[in-house]
Amino acid sequence: MPIRRLAETTINRIAAGEVIERPAAAVKELVENALDAGARRIEVILAGGGIERIEIIDDGCGIPSDELPLAIERHATSKLQDEALVRISTLGFRGEALPSIGAAARLTLISRPEGQDSAWRIDVAGGAITPARPVPGIKGTRAIAEDLFYATPARRKFLRAPRAEAEAAERTVWRLALCAPQTAFRLVSDERVLFDLPAQEEMARVAALFGREAANSMLPLDAGRDEVRLTGFIGPASLNRATSRLQSFVVNGRPVQDSMLRLSLRLAYRDVIPAGRFPVAALRLELPDEALDVNVHPAKSELRFADQNGIRSLVIGAINRALAQPVSLGTAPVATLPSLALRPPPSPSYAPPPPPSRAARGFAETELALAAPPMARPAFTPPPPAAVAEPEAAAHPLGAPLAQILDTYVLALASDGALVIVDQHAAHERLTEERLRAQFAEGRIASQPLLVPVVVDFSPMETARLLAESETLARLGLEIEAFGPGAVLVRSLPAALKEPDAAGLLRDLAEEFAETGAPLALEAKLDAALARLACHRSIRAGRRLQREEIDALLREMEATPRAATCSHGRPTFLKLTRADLEKLFGRRA
Ligand code: ADP
Ligand code: MG
Repeated sequence: MPIRRLAETTINRIAAGEVIERPAAAVKELVENALDAGARRIEVILAGGGIERIEIIDDGCGIPSDELPLAIERHATSKLQDEALVRISTLGFRGEALPSIGAAARLTLISRPEGQDSAWRIDVAGGAITPARPVPGIKGTRAIAEDLFYATPARRKFLRAPRAEAEAAERTVWRLALCAPQTAFRLVSDERVLFDLPAQEEMARVAALFGREAANSMLPLDAGRDEVRLTGFIGPASLNRATSRLQSFVVNGRPVQDSMLRLSLRLAYRDVIPAGRFPVAALRLELPDEALDVNVHPAKSELRFADQNGIRSLVIGAINRALAQPVSLGTAPVATLPSLALRPPPSPSYAPPPPPSRAARGFAETELALAAPPMARPAFTPPPPAAVAEPEAAAHPLGAPLAQILDTYVLALASDGALVIVDQHAAHERLTEERLRAQFAEGRIASQPLLVPVVVDFSPMETARLLAESETLARLGLEIEAFGPGAVLVRSLPAALKEPDAAGLLRDLAEEFAETGAPLALEAKLDAALARLACHRSIRAGRRLQREEIDALLREMEATPRAATCSHGRPTFLKLTRADLEKLFGRRA
């Protein structure tokens, strides 16, 4: 075949694949256009995850009627002043977004600049343009994209379920709203108002979008080096989350997902947050345009810093200093906030009488020895009387309890004379998970109604996410209901969990669901959720156990499949045989 030039429509469809790979990308481009237009107020309305319809209304500078055809033409932009691509102060500059959206979807622009006597409208559908004509309309621009990818079925096939696409699109607006606190933002998705924020200070914006719990304890950050300035808010170590969703990075006013910044954040918290948990942070970096290349990827969310190492050490250093500050007065836990006072108290109200059948299994229901006096050092609990009772031989391979040391490990004498050391938290986590899995396999996880239903506050986005998954949650033994735009009512929790912390548990699950939101991932989702449930409320390290509890723990481990490793794959117990001990003492090679 001879070489030929591709038709404009084809070129735009190819570009659409790069720039607009899913509804969230179209939302990002359209909101960025509104911000570039100097809008003071932006409204985003999504339907069907943005696949059906995306509408963005702004009160920005508008597009003059004679420029409307250019706006939807490829490589046409009003923004790029520095053709060397060095000083890029607007969010857009490539002139690709509108033609790409117009190639893949049905795009309508209705715009009226200051001083023009009416609005004008132009439509592009699958690349075909309907000429501009006057229509009624107020100052600013309305961009509507409908039937995304109807003209590019190949791309359409790769879309995920509307809920997953909605989640991604909502997060995109969440990130952009964090970038521009001085712009009022309203987000509506499938007729639910997810946020409606006035123009506000950065701190208030972060508080509104990160939720009240985070807002109450986050620490301000302000550090600089040379011409680089880092500001924002970071959570104390105790505010860690199940995923990295409560992390936002803004670089020169642009929302970015940069692996170097993510990693720096992780390193800064490495010593203070348990493995697998994520810190909470809203960071903003300002640096000279020359020190940054934003033109790395069409979606412009990746960056290249001229001085990677300098930025990394600035971030880590600033966070470490902030974390080292004495805890401020603003760290009252959510449950003590006055506005919560009228609501039923949280988890302490959950006090079901232990069912006798399970009391036989002993372990978790037994009163924990919390009231015991602090242990003298060295921390070694003397063997309880009769501890070295003859273990009931082979039926009990893990043997008889000897002692608990460091409030974390249980020592036992195995039936073959070996020494068994159990990590009580890891073991209990596995037992809980297996118990949950067994119940789940039989149909439904046993659920324990709360004596007094608990109201838990979430952000409207988290609330929507949880309610969208209420069926899945019910299968896990959690019954929830809507309770206004920013809260859910918890009616019951899985019975296998002891002292459940409804808020923490639901928040972790909401994040987990958001991460694994693919349409066919229900099983994977439930699987992850089960593990999450188990690790959430298992007996923690650092808790004194009674002899009967230790005994019950050992017996249950013997009766439970896969009890030798915890859900994270770490061992739950070690066994030191005569041979092992002899090796350790150098008695044999
Ligand atoms: P870019 O943003 O890279 O310039 P786009 O294709 O997104 O490219 O937009 C093309 C042009 O259309 C912009 O340069 C701008 O002049 C105009 N435009 C698009 N959206 C808006 C809006 N909401 N308000 C004002 N002008 C807009
Ligand atoms: Mg643009």
